[in-house]
Amino acid sequence: MKQHTLKESYTFRGRGLHTGKAVEMHLLPAPENQGILFRRTDLPGEPSVAASVDNVGRTHRSTTLTANGVRILTPEHLLSALYGLGVDNATVCLDAPEVPALDGCGRHYADAILADGLEEQSAERRMLVVRKPCVYEDPLSGSRIAFEPADGFEIDLTVDFRARAIGVQKARWDASSDYARDIAPCRTFCFLREVLPLRLAGLIRGGTLDNALVVRGGGFVGRPKLHFDNEPARHKLLDLLGDLSLAGRPIQGRITAYKPGHQANTQALRQFLSDHTL
Ligand SMILES: [Zn+2]
Repeated sequence: MKQHTLKESYTFRGRGLHTGKAVEMHLLPAPENQGILFRRTDLPGEPSVAASVDNVGRTHRSTTLTANGVRILTPEHLLSALYGLGVDNATVCLDAPEVPALDGCGRHYADAILADGLEEQSAERRMLVVRKPCVYEDPLSGSRIAFEPADGFEIDLTVDFRARAIGVQKARWDASSDYARDIAPCRTFCFLREVLPLRLAGLIRGGTLDNALVVRGGGFVGRPKLHFDNEPARHKLLDLLGDLSLAGRPIQGRITAYKPGHQANTQALRQFLSDHTL
């Protein structure tokens, strides 16, 4: 399988989910073997940050990439769409620190990119093959993420929330999955009781009922129509794909994720990559 980049350039405007800051973002085609590279065009010298697990900083409520003295906030939904659609190489120019929240999922990216299709490049795609089992567990959160050898790329994911609106839900990714159809429309979510503390902590300033599902007891605030019964679990799968993309190469293996989150996802990936290179 060859590497792929974008066929066209795309512009997205919006506000960051956490900073609430207005941002204009350009997605551009990139040369083979580059990977996904962010560039801060608002800063002198336009410093860049590679989408790599080595550059992961804070992972509270979202993933932050840090390098060359700059940060890229909340890249995971964009990274998920690029990974899920099979984009190996792209440059992302931002004139603010945070990727726009848009509608809290990957739908806008998938719709725009798929309308044109991808550009095949001449270099071969280099897969990261899981050769032996690797299990990450966090006793504090109860998260468990396991990597095992497999012929393709599969994810079995389970969320387990006390809130009745979600409870235990499962989501799956395999060769029959279609990112645009099955994963991209699934919105981010939070719990009503978290909204005030998160706002007071300076987070979710760009969060609205248009870009997030807000859980209250047995239902959702505003009674939105869910795209799938298990939309929250599918959003966690969307997030996990974005975090796994930070390996820098497509993974071949089976991943089983229980109670995933950005902290667990990126720590599990780090552990897998360090085991892998032993
Ligand atoms: Zn998310």
